[in-house]
Parts: sequence; structure tokens; C-alpha cells
Amino acid sequence: MSFHPQQIAGKNAEKTKAHNRRVVLGYLQTRDSGRAEIAKAAGLSTQTVSNLMAELETEGLVLRTGRRAAARGQPPVVYTFNPAGAAALGFEVRPDMLTMVLTDLGGTALTSQHIRLPQTDPEFVLAQMAALARQAAANSPIARILGAGLVIPGPFGVEGLSAAGATTLPGWDPATLPTRAEAALGLPVHIDKDATAAALAEGMSGAAQGLPTYAFLYFGSGLGLGIVAQGQPLRGAFGNAGEVGHVIIHPNGRACDCGNHGCLEQYVSRLSVQRHLIAKGHLTPDTSGTDATLLRLLADQNPYLTEWLETAAEALSRAIGMLENLFDPQSTVLGGALPDALIDALIARLNLPSGSVASRADRTTPRVQRGTSGRFTAALGAAALVIHNTVTPRLDAHRMETPHAPD
Ligand SMILES: [Zn+2]
Repeated sequence: MSFHPQQIAGKNAEKTKAHNRRVVLGYLQTRDSGRAEIAKAAGLSTQTVSNLMAELETEGLVLRTGRRAAARGQPPVVYTFNPAGAAALGFEVRPDMLTMVLTDLGGTALTSQHIRLPQTDPEFVLAQMAALARQAAANSPIARILGAGLVIPGPFGVEGLSAAGATTLPGWDPATLPTRAEAALGLPVHIDKDATAAALAEGMSGAAQGLPTYAFLYFGSGLGLGIVAQGQPLRGAFGNAGEVGHVIIHPNGRACDCGNHGCLEQYVSRLSVQRHLIAKGHLTPDTSGTDATLLRLLADQNPYLTEWLETAAEALSRAIGMLENLFDPQSTVLGGALPDALIDALIARLNLPSGSVASRADRTTPRVQRGTSGRFTAALGAAALVIHNTVTPRLDAHRMETPHAPD
């Protein structure tokens, strides 16, 4: 099975109209404009733009800000994008955690929440999501919710990797998930991989803001990679690009749940630090996973945590060197579900290869940096999928209404 990104060029009138709406909203997001100016910039007829503006104004997605002075005749009405015109929900499901954010159309969080998941059966989790959505909607200052983004760990639909143990979600079939999620939430649902969504969020308002090309290493339970190249997320043919956690970094190394040995996420992930501390008999499975515990061990310069940091930094340095040579990013950003201080400690221990295309004297951005979107980054990215699908014609999310539809 595969994802079928919505075609940008509409195949019928409905799609063309949806596309034109995104073009107009995307344009207004960057500057306030009159109808004639929008028509010219978007290559649309003034009549088409007038019809769209009337519709968008009724929906509250654009506002009139006044009239612009004109040399002669009636001065044109000036419109502005209204971030408070609607809201978007973002959900991240991890094997142990469900995170929800509600944002306005500017990507600003209105409310956020995360709950521990005692089990990951899709029916159970979808019911929890629906309850959180109802609660968020009831307390939202913005009445209209356009849709929901749902991000889960990859990979999608791959024999051999899908059931790769503790960092994946067994039973979450991406072919049936959109229909089930839409039924549970009563909203259109956009699905993507957690790392890709997190990368988009970091580009929208975090450390990668203003960078067209960057790599984002995402600490979920495992380790994911989101690549944004020239402003576009790189998803691959089946939505599985960036499965960096299962890149072999130490041949004949530690056994991985995927069946290989020496996979990167066996050394660099939240799960790997937990496993390391438990294996050393230092902590119990109950206490090793919390941020407070990790931060205390870091502050105490605990030798077992230091041991993990050194092993992780060595594997990560190799992996980052590889990513740089493969994708030539302006910067590699690290973020997600590890405490900031632990990510900083990891970055401080990196020994990046000098033989890399990223070793350059004229660099203006750090080669590696910590993200600033915090632990809600993937959920914010999930909401960003809805926003992108509403206002940005070039950044369509996977809209899987018909997962098995032919290309
Ligand atoms: Zn593996």
C-alpha cells in the first residue's frame, strides 16, 4: 500500500477551486492585498478572486482591513489573512504517549495536553483522541476546527520493519487509519510520519525558521528523520523517507527489533537510554523513563548516563556526517521527546567528521543545533499539516480519502 499525495493541479472544478483558495490564502498570509493585486499575482481572473474572497470572508478566514488610497475611482478594499478564523488539531501517537495541541491558523498553540497510554490498540487510542478533541473544542476561543493532523512513528506498510518492536505501533494500518480517525473525530484527518511533521513545525516557528533546506532528527521512542529540501518535505515514494533509526551504524552491533544488528536507534533514542540504565541495574523500568530522572542523573554526572551519552554521541556523529553528505542541509536540528539539557549534552559531545560537505568556513547557521519547539513539536507539526493544506498549495499533506486509489 502507499500514500497518494493529493494532486496539486486539480483534476476537476472542485479541486481547482480548493487549489485556488490555498493560493489566495497563502498569498494573503504574506501580505495584505486587494482583489486586483491578488488576481494578478495568482494568475486568476478578478471575478474568480472576487468570488473566492466573498466565500473566505463569510468563513472568517480573511478580514477587510480598510481601503487603500487610489489615484482615481473607488479605492480597492484591502484584505488580510485571519489566523483566528479557524483552528487546527494536532495529535501525536507514540507507543507510550498521546499528545494533542489545538492551534490557530498561524500555528500558535491555544491549548495542549499529553496523556500516558496504557495500551496502543487503535480503537482505544482513537476514543482517547476523540475525548481530548471534544474537551479542546469545548474550551476553544475559536469555534471552527478545520481538521486534524495525526502523526505516528513510521515506517508505513513495510514488511520486516513495521513490526520492529517497542518503537512502533502494531495494528496501526495506514490504509484504514484515515477512515477510522475521521469517523472517531468527525473531522478531515491528515496523516504523516512524526519526524516529517516535527520538521515542518520546527521550520514554521522553531530553530529552522527561514531555512529552506535542513535535516531534523526527531527523538520519539525511536529516532526519526525529517528532511525539508527547498521548503518541501521529502517523503519518498511510500511516505517512508527518513527511517534513519534503522540505518546500520555498527556492523555486528547490538541486535535491533527489526532483525538487523547495529541500528542507529539502538544507540541514540529515548528507548536506548532507558534500556542502558535498566541493564546497568541502575534504575527500574518504572523510573528510568521520566524526564525528571534523566535530568537528575545528568546533573549528578551519573557515570552510566555519561557512558550512554558518549556511545550515543559517537554513533550520532557518524550518522550526522552521513546525512550531511547525502542531503547537504544548511543545518541539522535535534529535537523531540528528550529533555533539552540532555540534547545539549549530546550535542556538546559530538565529534563530527571533518570530511563532510558541511565542513565549510563560510557557514552562517550552526552545523548542528537543538530545536526550540519542545516536546510538542510533532503534535504542532500535525496541526501544521492541516494549516499547510488550507493555506499553502505547495505543501500538501497526505490526504488519504482513498488510500487504495490508483495514481
Ligand atoms: Zn533496526
